[in-house]
Amino acid sequence: MTNLKKRLLTGDRPTGKLHLGHYVGSIQNRVKLQDEYDCYFIVADLHTLTTRPEKENVVEVPGFIRELVLDYLACGIDPVKSTIFLQSHVPATFELNLYFEMLITLPRLSRLPTIKDMARAASLDDESLPFGLVGYPVLQAVDILLPRAVLVPVGRDNEAHVEIAREIGRRFNHTYGADVFPEPEALVPSERLLPGTDGQSKMSKSLGNAIYLSDDAKTVEQKVRSMFTDPKRIRADIPGTVEGNPVFIYHDYFNDNIAEVADLKERYRTGKVGDVEVKRKLAAAINRFLEPLRERRAQYEGNPRFLDDILAAGTERMNTVATETMHMVRDAMGLFPKA
Ligand code: ATP
Ligand code: MG
Repeated sequence: MTNLKKRLLTGDRPTGKLHLGHYVGSIQNRVKLQDEYDCYFIVADLHTLTTRPEKENVVEVPGFIRELVLDYLACGIDPVKSTIFLQSHVPATFELNLYFEMLITLPRLSRLPTIKDMARAASLDDESLPFGLVGYPVLQAVDILLPRAVLVPVGRDNEAHVEIAREIGRRFNHTYGADVFPEPEALVPSERLLPGTDGQSKMSKSLGNAIYLSDDAKTVEQKVRSMFTDPKRIRADIPGTVEGNPVFIYHDYFNDNIAEVADLKERYRTGKVGDVEVKRKLAAAINRFLEPLRERRAQYEGNPRFLDDILAAGTERMNTVATETMHMVRDAMGLFPKA
């Protein structure tokens, strides 16, 4: 059966569990786009090597892969409709990466602020910067162009890398006089970043301020209880600020009881509600929101074979598309003697 829907590619590095910020910033959108697009979700394990090539990091990757796929399924990504695949098990990735490396200059890559940021985060200077880290956007262009995706949902931080993919694809088509690659568009969410439970502007696992999609009800209650709110409000009868207050930002995102949220805001502004009640209702709302995820997770959790099968089936589907693309690529290049 041929799928006439347009292809979409996005994904994650398997570096840990997903949190509410990931849900708001990307996963919820993927779940919605599944019907309209032929979705390819990449578990980008090779990308973890760019900043974490050491053995002690690499051995953690298989566990992270399972957690990531489990998070996807829990959120409602449907492995029948969509293709979840493992980057390292698509051999064409390595080949296309080499061809693409010839189609972009080193200064173009080195100038990208994202590469500088990643180097800084991994404490790497010009002397210790691996070749492969500078090539991160090239590998990402491979991820996008190998399935010939036209839409790439990414965070704002990754928009420049989609532009690199467009440039490389265009350059390939032009160099070899072919029309192999479409020009992918980035789809950047309009939502602001979800703040952390500590009030920092980004919920992030490295900042330790995250509520994970896999947290149980008790953990959610505990994390919400210790959340940062309006620091001026040392007593319940002091009027508080709702705008920019993480507790209310979370209420707006996750509490399905609109009337309750409006009532809490009103009473907060006039000093007629305590933080304890605001937080108790928030924890309950987040737990209501997470409940269907927990139910879906439970169906898959006890059966690691099932997860492996889903990933293997998706990877096989991706390999079929990749083989098609590589036929076109080699044909266009004419580098290979015909039998
Ligand atoms: P770190 O890698 O610093 O530990 P993280 O793994 O929590 O952080 P990223 O790796 O930056 O998060 O997340 C990947 C993508 O997930 C981002 O490009 C963004 O689209 C989305 N995302 C992550 N955190 C948030 C957030 N707090 N709010 C909205 N979107 C987010
Ligand atoms: Mg991360």
